[in-house]
Amino acid sequence: MTATATFPLNFRTVPSQTARDAAARDEILADPGFGRHFTDHMVEITWTVDDGWHDAQVVPYGPITLDPAASVLHYAQEIFEGLKAYRHADGSIWTFRPEANALRLQRSARRLALPELGVEDFLESLRQLLAVDKDWVPSAPETSLYLRPFMYASESFLGVRAAHTVDYRVIASPAGAYFHGGVTPVSIWLSTDYNRAGRGGMGAAKTGGNYAASLLPQNEAYEQGCAQVLFLDSLEGKYIEELGGMNVFLVRHDGTLITPSLSGTILEGITRESIIQLARDRGHAVEERPVTVDEWRDGVESGEITEVFACGTAAVITPIAQLKSRDFAIGDPAAPAGKLTMSLREELTDIQYGRRTDHHGWMTRLA
Ligand SMILES: *Cc1c(COP(=O)(O)O)cnc(C)c1O
Repeated sequence: MTATATFPLNFRTVPSQTARDAAARDEILADPGFGRHFTDHMVEITWTVDDGWHDAQVVPYGPITLDPAASVLHYAQEIFEGLKAYRHADGSIWTFRPEANALRLQRSARRLALPELGVEDFLESLRQLLAVDKDWVPSAPETSLYLRPFMYASESFLGVRAAHTVDYRVIASPAGAYFHGGVTPVSIWLSTDYNRAGRGGMGAAKTGGNYAASLLPQNEAYEQGCAQVLFLDSLEGKYIEELGGMNVFLVRHDGTLITPSLSGTILEGITRESIIQLARDRGHAVEERPVTVDEWRDGVESGEITEVFACGTAAVITPIAQLKSRDFAIGDPAAPAGKLTMSLREELTDIQYGRRTDHHGWMTRLA
């Protein structure tokens, strides 16, 4: 049985006795990098098969005690989310389309046989964390507080079945500007030996297992001087799917955006969906359909495809200058970022940082 929270949870807060002072925090916020530093608190909510979700708390950030037989360590029953808190010019703190993250966490939970957390409880978990750790949201341009909600099977049991005890947590990590000294196009590596996901698998779920599958090809990409891996469909090996953690778009010379359709093996990126909306608002056609590597290669050679970019919460939009594989290289690694790529990036970040009107009601105030 999968119990779903049917009432809003009441949170209690246990303040940290070792919270860093303003000077120590400011030193970290001056150059936070990504995923290296964490705030003073974290959220924890427990689920059991008998009691559903309960014991919602904000507690001091610190190590988690897990039994060595905890099933997540053996069978990887785990899911996560990633979103950001942005500080606006007036000091207020906002996040972008958090309901979409909440709903995606529920879809991931269903695929991994984990319990679903209510949308309101998800949103409240973010508000509660920000209530105590809001000073950790940096204010320099392009910086944010990265929020990482996650859920894992904490029951100690080596039998193979969905766990009867599950924990949900939220941690937060200040993030510096993704690109130092301006947005720079990257080269990406086409993985032909490895796939990320297959039909009926977990490709559409945000789960650690998909990332584990991407690490070896990611190493291959680094060896080839590339920043990221592009995965192909596992059935025919000719359709592009996505990068290890970002969705991908091609831009045709007439301004049409083309992106692989959500086939069940691709993660449904919220940045992807938002870009589709913003492009359509501007009158651009957007095609969501199967896209072959050949279409990319021939299109770049003929001049039909003029820009390519990847997108996700962390980097927003990353221009792609070149696609490399064992057999060919498409595009010029020194090419500048595309015009439409950069203007969509600017529009989206302007909305996120409160510099432009939020026509779609995408922003939610957290603090
Ligand atoms: C999180 C993620 C994305 C991007 O999703 P956003 O909601 O835009 O951040 C794309 N692909 C994979 C595999 C992901 O895990």
